[in-house]
Amino acid sequence: MKIAIYPGSFDPITSGHLNIIRRSSKIFDKLIVCVMVNAGKNPMFTLDERVALIRRVTADLPNVEVDGSHELLAEYAKRKGSCVIVKGLRAGSDFENEFQMAMINHKINPNLDTMFLTAEHQYMYMSSSMVKELASYDVDLSDFLPEEIIDDFKERVSTIHQGGNRI
Ligand code: ADP
Repeated sequence: MKIAIYPGSFDPITSGHLNIIRRSSKIFDKLIVCVMVNAGKNPMFTLDERVALIRRVTADLPNVEVDGSHELLAEYAKRKGSCVIVKGLRAGSDFENEFQMAMINHKINPNLDTMFLTAEHQYMYMSSSMVKELASYDVDLSDFLPEEIIDDFKERVSTIHQGGNRI
């Protein structure tokens, strides 16, 4: 069985992420979407909340499993019996960083390869951080976030604003 892992921060999951999930779930027998901890980022949603949001929007995809991990990705993949990491590649900025991560993961675990799916044009410039920027303004979010999570996102934005914090 070909198992692939799609790792990321998913804070929150965007329509661009969901597009990569849908496309790769057709390529592999099983896709594990894994929310990873990024020490450099101060997340809007906890790891468990992000896992729950992704589960909700992938409920119609039977071969997609959603998980969260504090482990090193190469170690996590080994434990899950997977030898493929799936990544989305957006215009410009992703390449250098993703190339470096793919090399490092392959060095730590030589059985592990990274496959890139190019972002579809309408998602090319979309990121979780961009959606968080837009949240401060009254913008229709339906082109950016899966419909099922928009209310949760707006609620979190207003809680953060009430606390006097910037996103
Ligand atoms: P970000 O916070 O920038 O959205 P993540 O760590 O959550 O980044 O992204 C996880 C993976 O999903 C990365 O491989 C990233 O390149 C990819 N990705 C993020 N947004 C998109 C998008 N709009 N289209 C395609 N791939 C994407």
